Amino acid sequence: MRNATTPTSAWHTWLHFFGRHILILLFLTVALAGMIAVHWYFSPSIGDVQAVARSTQGLSAPIFKEIPARPVQQRLAQSPGPIRIGIIAGHAGFDSGAVCEDGLTEVEVNTVIARLVVENLRARGLAVDLLDEFDERLRGYNATALVSIHADSCVYYNEFATGYKIAASPFTDSTALENCVERVYRQVTELPYHANTITPHMTDYHAFRTIAPGTPAIIIEAGFMYLDRELLTVQADRPARGITNGILCFLEQSQQ
Ligand SMILES: [Zn+2]
Repeated sequence: MRNATTPTSAWHTWLHFFGRHILILLFLTVALAGMIAVHWYFSPSIGDVQAVARSTQGLSAPIFKEIPARPVQQRLAQSPGPIRIGIIAGHAGFDSGAVCEDGLTEVEVNTVIARLVVENLRARGLAVDLLDEFDERLRGYNATALVSIHADSCVYYNEFATGYKIAASPFTDSTALENCVERVYRQVTELPYHANTITPHMTDYHAFRTIAPGTPAIIIEAGFMYLDRELLTVQADRPARGITNGILCFLEQSQQ
């Protein structure tokens, strides 16, 4: 009888086992080969992996994080910009304005006074623009102050048609400028303030709407061309000094 532990018998047992499970073993072999092939095919070489890791972006992706906007707080108060004054010679470059019987025009009167004001301010080292009535520079004009100089009609109404008047921009607070010029102009010219003839032409003055918001602006009717004629022409330096010193008063106040 044969002993189950003899080598021949063990070999026979294994062969018998393989014979019975040949399909399963074949399947396992094919599956293993397939997995090894897939692994080999899709694995990048070590060199490729190192190259990606060394590249600037590395293996990381950018992270986007929503950060809510916060108000910027200035540590130091903003220093005021350099001073610049705009002076409009009323009607200049446009029309003559009011005209007297003897031919004296408002634009002449305004221009003489405006030029004197500009000279006075420049003599003090200030930057000043002498502007026409509809000067192109008025669009978005940015300045410390804008003063438009006009004069009232040359028609004789009555003995009260004398004096000056001022209207301030309704868009930018121009009260300080208005108050300074009103007070100083009266002191220098000794003219009365003629408030009751302020017209929409003054309060709705075109330049108020054209200039940059934040530029204080006024329009002054420096006097009546009939009764105040001598002051406005022969003594033009007086209204000019009144306007100049009024602007300087405003600058002193706004520097504080
Ligand atoms: Zn005018």
